[in-house]
Amino acid sequence: MSFAIPAPAQITIPVVGGDPFPVRRIYCVGRNYAAHAREMGHDPDREPPFFFMKPADAIVPTGSVVPYPAATADYHHEIEMVVALGKGGRDVPVDKALDLVFGYGVGLDMTRRDIQAQAKKMGRPWDMAKGFDQSAPCAPILPVSQSGHPDKGAVWLKVNGEIRQQGDLGDLIWSVAETISYLSGLVELFPGDLIYTGTPEGVGAVVKGDKLEGHVDGLQDISITIG
Ligand code: MN
Repeated sequence: MSFAIPAPAQITIPVVGGDPFPVRRIYCVGRNYAAHAREMGHDPDREPPFFFMKPADAIVPTGSVVPYPAATADYHHEIEMVVALGKGGRDVPVDKALDLVFGYGVGLDMTRRDIQAQAKKMGRPWDMAKGFDQSAPCAPILPVSQSGHPDKGAVWLKVNGEIRQQGDLGDLIWSVAETISYLSGLVELFPGDLIYTGTPEGVGAVVKGDKLEGHVDGLQDISITIG
């Protein structure tokens, strides 16, 4: 098939021991750990999950030097477990939701916090705070056959070797199954979709030269340098 202009390349993420994972869409859950909701000034009562998106080409592989982005002076890290879907569905019941999962990765929901704060104040969309270029670093995906379905275990992020964020998957307000089920009632999910599941407390700013290392127990670590 020919196109009017050169077609964009399929975005992929490496898979441990297999062929690359083709990325379709990136969904992100907001405020999915109570202590992070509190640090952002919200009551962590179990209100329904809410979502925002990043473009698929915001993905960058582990080991990358990620340029400090334009238009911010408050560029934040958010360490998150990432769910990679191998099957789709709509209105998926909670007890069937994990059947959709291909595997799990460790990602960073990089955020231009100053743009987000202004968007919140003005009642404007978050897209330019969350969905900018190279805003979604993601480590190689571990297939479920090797990872199982992690529901507890340490989540941490170090900057220049010092712990900045520390949490536990067991503290997710909405579990992976509940999140998939809820999201599938809003949009039809497809193979290739990713879900960034939210970040624990301790988000903060990074500057040029910082080295970020992120970890979720049982998964592949992520490491990037801000350039
Ligand atoms: Mn996040």
